[in-house]
Amino acid sequence: MPSSLSALPLPHIAPLHPYTPGVQPTGAGWVKLNTNECPYPPTPRVAEALRSEIGERGAPLRLYPNPTSGPLRAAIAALHGLTDAQVCVGNGSDDILNLLVRCLGGPAAATAFTRPSYSLYPVLVAIQNGGIEVIEFDRSMLLPIAEIAASTAPAFFLTSPNAPTGVGFTRQEIAAILGSYRGLLVVDEAYAPFAEEDAVSLLAEHRNLVVVRTLSKAYALAGIRVGYALADPEVIGWLDRVRDSYNVNRLSQTAALAAFSDPEYYSAIIAKVKQTREACFRKCAYQRGWFTYPSRANFLFTEPRSAAGEAGPAVALSAYNFLYANRVLVRHFPSHALTAPFLRISIGTDEEMKFLDDTFDAWLKAPPNA
Ligand code: PMP
Repeated sequence: MPSSLSALPLPHIAPLHPYTPGVQPTGAGWVKLNTNECPYPPTPRVAEALRSEIGERGAPLRLYPNPTSGPLRAAIAALHGLTDAQVCVGNGSDDILNLLVRCLGGPAAATAFTRPSYSLYPVLVAIQNGGIEVIEFDRSMLLPIAEIAASTAPAFFLTSPNAPTGVGFTRQEIAAILGSYRGLLVVDEAYAPFAEEDAVSLLAEHRNLVVVRTLSKAYALAGIRVGYALADPEVIGWLDRVRDSYNVNRLSQTAALAAFSDPEYYSAIIAKVKQTREACFRKCAYQRGWFTYPSRANFLFTEPRSAAGEAGPAVALSAYNFLYANRVLVRHFPSHALTAPFLRISIGTDEEMKFLDDTFDAWLKAPPNA
């Protein structure tokens, strides 16, 4: 028996702060606009394919899944006009991001990213006991191209469209970074299907680019956990060395393949989400007069103003609490000065957005601190 368990783990483990995911309520009756899931179900082909994979008794579940997600890699490669050797599939894109940090981050080298961006990156780096290099946005949220390009970090994580702001960056801006940055530029395109452009075509010219995608948002499959990396075969080789041997389970591979077989269905729901996003943007920005970043994602980042015309972290928190009390879940990021006055609102169905809007109206009418 060790005298103290706490003496056993590596010294950097005890101070780690795990990633804080958005609340996942268990009860019914919530309008859930807090984790950027798709408000519509996946293509019916997913449920059909899962039923046929499971069969009567689930006999195929006795067997391990395809260890390389081979057929799924081929489908993803075909989708993007790439070769199978340029694709690695993960247990969600979080798995892919983790593998990248495992390969490139650690005590010997700082890993770089912007702030604000996806708050998982520093958590993954801390798990590897790595150093971080942060490039701060200002309130304009314009991409600091020259600063990023000048970074000497072996890996730079860039979220595009960015989270939690929704601001999208152009292919030209990403190309400008790649023109001088010498490390591996990881462009996390979780929300790119809702944007007007993406960085995939830049892979043809830039061996130091990785594009990371997920099926959790546009493909309505957050519960299935599939994401992937598109990169040079050499980079894919690193990821394959460090991933779990069966990192994507059998049902997830089946579901993802079925989803990719129905592009028409997904074009329609993506178009619908974008239409709802624009309607919600007009409501927040023009009718309410709340500062709201133009979004290229499936969420909006808006700065609520109280009935007295005030904005700020306390106002955002008051709106968040009022929404929560009325069973509307959105996300508030209080730990950074640029994000604390804002709320991030995932785009839901038209009915959900109407309920949100009515609840904001009620908040504006409620006495302060109600
Ligand atoms: N990247 C960004 C920018 C995200 O917001 C998210 C979702 N939280 C992810 C990656 C992770 O997605 P996945 O469900 O594929 O792990």
